[in-house]
Amino acid sequence: MSQPGIPASSGALSGLQAQNGAASASGSPFTNGPIQNELMSSQGYSSQLPGSYPHLIPAKTLNPVSVQSKYGGSQTVSPLSNYQGLQTLHRPPVASNAVTPSLHSGPVPRMPQHASQNPAATPVPSGSFHPGASVPPPLNWQYNYPPTGSRTNHGSPVSSGPALSGNTNLTTGHPYVSSGDPSLQNNFIKSGPAPPLVNSPLPATLQPGAPLGPPPTGGPPPVSAHAAQKASHRAVPQPSFNSAVNQEGITSSTNNGSMVVHNSYDEIEGGGFLATPQLTNKTTPVSRSVGYSYPSLPPGYQNTAPPSAAGMPPSSLSYLSGPQAFTQTPLGANHLTASMSGLSLHPEGLRVVNLLQERNMLPPTPLQPPAPNLHEDIQKLNCNPELFRCTLTSVPQTQALLNKAKLPLGLLLHPFKDLVLPVVTSSTIVRCRSCRTYINPFVSFLDQRRWKCNLCYQVNDVPEEFMYNPLTRVYGEPHKRPEVQNATIEFMAPSEYMLRPPQPPVYLFVFDVSHNAVETGYLNSVCQSLLDNLDLLPGNTRTKIGFITFDSTIHFYSLQEGLSQPQMLIVSDIEDVFIPMPENLLVNLNESKELVQDLLKTLPQMFTKTLETQSALGPALQAAFKLMSPTGGRMSVFQTQLPTLGVGALRPREEPNHRSSAKEIHLTPSTDFYKKLALDCSGQQVAVDLFLLSGQYSDLASLGCISRYSAGSVYYYPSYHHQHNPVQVQKLQKELQRYLTRKIGFEAVMRIRCTKGLSIHTFHGNFFVRSTDLLSLPNVNPDAGYAVQMSVEESLTDTQLVSFQSALLYTSSKGERRIRVHTLCLPVVSTLNEVFLGADVQAISGLLANMAVDRSVTASLSDARDALVNAVVDSLSAYRSSVLSNHQPGLMVPFSLRLFPLYVLALLKQKSFQTGTSARLDERSFAMCQVKNQPLVYLMLTTHPNLYRVDNLSDEGALNINDRTIPQPPILQLSVEKLSRDGAFLMDAGSVLILWVGKNCGQNFLSQVLGVQSYALIPHTMTDLPELDTPESARTIAFISWLREQRPFFPILYVIRDESPMKATFLQNMVEDRTESALSYYEFLLHIQQQVNK
Ligand SMILES: [Zn+2]
Repeated sequence: MSQPGIPASSGALSGLQAQNGAASASGSPFTNGPIQNELMSSQGYSSQLPGSYPHLIPAKTLNPVSVQSKYGGSQTVSPLSNYQGLQTLHRPPVASNAVTPSLHSGPVPRMPQHASQNPAATPVPSGSFHPGASVPPPLNWQYNYPPTGSRTNHGSPVSSGPALSGNTNLTTGHPYVSSGDPSLQNNFIKSGPAPPLVNSPLPATLQPGAPLGPPPTGGPPPVSAHAAQKASHRAVPQPSFNSAVNQEGITSSTNNGSMVVHNSYDEIEGGGFLATPQLTNKTTPVSRSVGYSYPSLPPGYQNTAPPSAAGMPPSSLSYLSGPQAFTQTPLGANHLTASMSGLSLHPEGLRVVNLLQERNMLPPTPLQPPAPNLHEDIQKLNCNPELFRCTLTSVPQTQALLNKAKLPLGLLLHPFKDLVLPVVTSSTIVRCRSCRTYINPFVSFLDQRRWKCNLCYQVNDVPEEFMYNPLTRVYGEPHKRPEVQNATIEFMAPSEYMLRPPQPPVYLFVFDVSHNAVETGYLNSVCQSLLDNLDLLPGNTRTKIGFITFDSTIHFYSLQEGLSQPQMLIVSDIEDVFIPMPENLLVNLNESKELVQDLLKTLPQMFTKTLETQSALGPALQAAFKLMSPTGGRMSVFQTQLPTLGVGALRPREEPNHRSSAKEIHLTPSTDFYKKLALDCSGQQVAVDLFLLSGQYSDLASLGCISRYSAGSVYYYPSYHHQHNPVQVQKLQKELQRYLTRKIGFEAVMRIRCTKGLSIHTFHGNFFVRSTDLLSLPNVNPDAGYAVQMSVEESLTDTQLVSFQSALLYTSSKGERRIRVHTLCLPVVSTLNEVFLGADVQAISGLLANMAVDRSVTASLSDARDALVNAVVDSLSAYRSSVLSNHQPGLMVPFSLRLFPLYVLALLKQKSFQTGTSARLDERSFAMCQVKNQPLVYLMLTTHPNLYRVDNLSDEGALNINDRTIPQPPILQLSVEKLSRDGAFLMDAGSVLILWVGKNCGQNFLSQVLGVQSYALIPHTMTDLPELDTPESARTIAFISWLREQRPFFPILYVIRDESPMKATFLQNMVEDRTESALSYYEFLLHIQQQVNK
């Protein structure tokens, strides 16, 4: 018998009815062989970028006269108190959103689908990528950079040049790249003529009216041996470990008009050979402006104070409490022999595991990232894996070896994570003069005067200033400088690193005030949060703030100092949006604080009687963009429905009955309006964060583009309602508190460099890829993660170590230009077994999830699911055929990959990729946004939650943090087998915590923790634990609080029993169990085994 929905050939399934895989492995072979072949040959990833994005035009400067003339015609100006009287109310109210709980009924389990059942990728609208037909089939799933030179930049590269074909396929004539030149993937492979336009003007980043100055000649000034005298170093001030010095001097001195205006960030950050000096002649004539003077900061080192946001504390990492003790001998290539001699792996790591026999491979404590197989002296200096990790901690020597392993090579980054780190203030930032790498712990000193770059092997001089170590106050110890002792470090950047004076912090809030929005009651929460946190917004005396509200019209608020109350300006012309009184709408927060507070107190009441149901989100965003264009900054948009008016209006696309279909769902944007506007925003250093509070379909797949390409974030509060959904209200408040007060970096760019021979080709995350590999991040926040894919372009046979370095250049909220640098060092290996031994299964799963999101959008969801399964099958097949000598029965995996099938199964059941009707389209789109934007640790928690038994918490093995005792119960497998009716179990799924209480749960837990006398008395909706004066209560609350504190978002707690609606979610997350639409873990293992042993 064959179940509906399963291809007839998959008859093996029929024998596997039992929930937890009690079936035997002897079923008929489950053949889906053709899938792999077809999948492979059909996914060439010769991507095209259909939409062309004519470059970013500076916003129209408003002519005051025309504003005036238009002003009278199309808008009404009135004091706030008159608002209701002026509003024309002629539309009927809509019904408030009914809250529809997700129903978890769905079709039968579905195995990876036959490729022929998804004959064609869904048509890809502009803004997406077409799988190329003419490209030779890659050997496997997009792990490798096809030698033909086609590339996928999912941030959709747009050059700084004026004419763009919007085609990323280099072989077909890239507009700004000499065709097919592989050096573009690598900054330092060739020093030949670089692409002409890389250094050409980026008009959008220029301040209108600012003089177009010369580009910098790139890099630190040449070091002249006689420039600095030894004596001068004795005058270097003693290093200070106080919190960051006040750098106001920098910013205040930059306000004169004369300054160096760089043509692009590419030059500033330094594109390696791409920015070689001769190229700068192609741009404006060089006449280095000198009027722009920054006080040169004395060398010194400060520790930044840890961010002290009220409310949710920053994540607890503080692994660097300042510059470390300098006891190590210098490391580098000249110490390789020593470095590599200490290799050792824990014997457990060398084990081969038969997953069909060893059913429980899940460790009881959180899985730690594997330590690279490096000498301890190097490893001690290495970057913390929470910030920077690689899918393969042993990097294959050649692409052929990587191809053989069938595992993806890539990096996962959390570059701006909250942490305490050493900050270097020095007039000379030492970088490789060839590839622009920052000096780091893994360079080698040939002697006291020369260092060799660990990325391109260029030999560089040690600048005179660098000879002095201000920490030890010793001269002649360049290898003991903090830059060479810390893999994570931050520099105060001198003026060469600025395109313009550092921008002030600018915060613009855009509020939906339609009838639907008012119904949710969200304005109260948001305005109150803002009032509470107004003084905690990161910034300084230059901080600016502004507000826009909109329904069918757009409302501005003049907050000019001196007004007795905020003045509202209504613009009803949404076809051609203009800004009335642009100078009074974004105001200095300090100077206009009372008016701002006034407005925040009034706003929630102003629209309570509105009957306006339309939403002109697009025009409101255009207006907000115009308002922010001159400065850049952060735009926070609150939207509660599908936009219906003006540009960017959307139509409902969700068909509930088709939710289960994996191929006909709308994951691609229905318009490129939001993406285009996001790119405009990016060009003007504006990032857009979208808060969607809606119970109805709002087409997040389209709306989300506004954040994705502008380096913003998406927040989603489905079914938000101030009365009906109090936990969402609590969640919004907590998350706003974090959002408003967390660290923020403005006008940022990030570049990732790697050792010569390696090449980065695909980027994942929210940003925009500018000039081939420079990520443009108008804002960077401490909660965002990124991923990149890499290939081995040239054999690494001549080196035993490779390094990766990310450099994030940003403007702090205090107006300092800073560079945060992380450097990761890994060994190179030459055998397949070593590659497998060093595999980082979480990083691999995280990267695959990112790739699968792209695949879902460019091809189809079922393609993405197939590819995930094939990733496991292919790599384990490779392991079996190339590493294992005797082919034992069973499913043999290297110890490092023992959780790989489990994690991939968990991904298939994750909201992003699951099948079945339970996933609503916006929820799926949001889950995909999260995959792309979250740091790995949260992605893994969302994918494979942690399950704990909590009715018997004890202090045994508990953590002790600040006099608090935090119990550490063991992590259980995600299977109902692990539950028992006489217990209580907590599932931590990242953004949600579910505490399931068994029917026969002990009286002690009920009364001492839940505060109820019997199971039947547990309230139906219980989202909080009472604080009882019992040790049991204290332990449980301590544990839950501790889980919550460690993340930047607020997980809702649901206490549930068998009858609760959340029970379905709880069961859905039981990854190892069979569900209505997915296999059990054991069934999945059998399927993998059959594929592997073919
Ligand atoms: Zn170099």
